[in-house]
Amino acid sequence: MMSNVLSVFADPKGPRRWGWVGAVVMLAAVAAAQGPAPVQPPAQAPAPPPTLVKVRDDVFVIQNVNHLVSEIGQNGGNATVVVTNDGVILVDTKNERMHDDLVAKVKSLTVRPITYGVLTHNHADHSGGAARLQADGTTIVGSVGTRENMLRANQPGAPQITYTGYSQIVLGGKEVQLREVRGHTRGDTIVLIPSARVVIAGDLVATPDTIPAIVNYGDGGSWTDLGRALDEVAKLDFDTLVGGHGPVLSRADFLKYRDRIAAIRERFRALNRERKTQDEITQTLLKEFNWGTGPAAGNIAGMLQELR
Ligand SMILES: [Zn+2]
Repeated sequence: MMSNVLSVFADPKGPRRWGWVGAVVMLAAVAAAQGPAPVQPPAQAPAPPPTLVKVRDDVFVIQNVNHLVSEIGQNGGNATVVVTNDGVILVDTKNERMHDDLVAKVKSLTVRPITYGVLTHNHADHSGGAARLQADGTTIVGSVGTRENMLRANQPGAPQITYTGYSQIVLGGKEVQLREVRGHTRGDTIVLIPSARVVIAGDLVATPDTIPAIVNYGDGGSWTDLGRALDEVAKLDFDTLVGGHGPVLSRADFLKYRDRIAAIRERFRALNRERKTQDEITQTLLKEFNWGTGPAAGNIAGMLQELR
């Protein structure tokens, strides 16, 4: 929200705006090819409902089908379901309007309640479902930084249990580890499920290129800290990683993603030191990394300040 255009993940109008511009450009191209025709603003096409993807026998991800920014405003980001004999640990809550769909998908896996809901960070596509879950009896857990970011923005559903640094949840004999880092925001939580060798990284990891990785400067994120956070993730013992957006990644996929983020950051820093203009930097990054449009475009002004 706030000053940073890049809170687009948290702003349902953001993706819509972007999708609309793209659609108008497409319509204009069609009109140019076919001669003059009345161009009407297209209605927002409804995104297909999210799908339930099995990661392990006891770990599932609720994710969007096409991995497009235009789906995020409607369906929210990835949510991960950890099933135990005593209840469910849910990581991220999607947005408020997906609550019934989310609960129905969890009910299709287990009769147990959603005992804990961990928030990877404060943005509404991850935390917007928290208040409805709390009303149903779920305890919401997050870092102190995430709680403070949510209270500052008057977002409902702020964590009832907070931590700094490191914490654990043990439920039904299963352990889930929480690590607080700074990167996408100042209070990101990395979740490790040691028994499943699965990491859930929130928006520290966003793929594919259609959903570019960004930081939210307004919520205390930084590209330098994002790089450090991804190095911390790489030290963990895991085979499979769930990002905040996009498909489930292998460890090798993740390492490629980490290196790409570092390469974008260092290329940006070098161009900035050469005193290239904002437009020149954007064009170079687009050409070399296919990074710099859509949600990423709003990150560039902040990066000019940070990466000198
Ligand atoms: Zn986010």
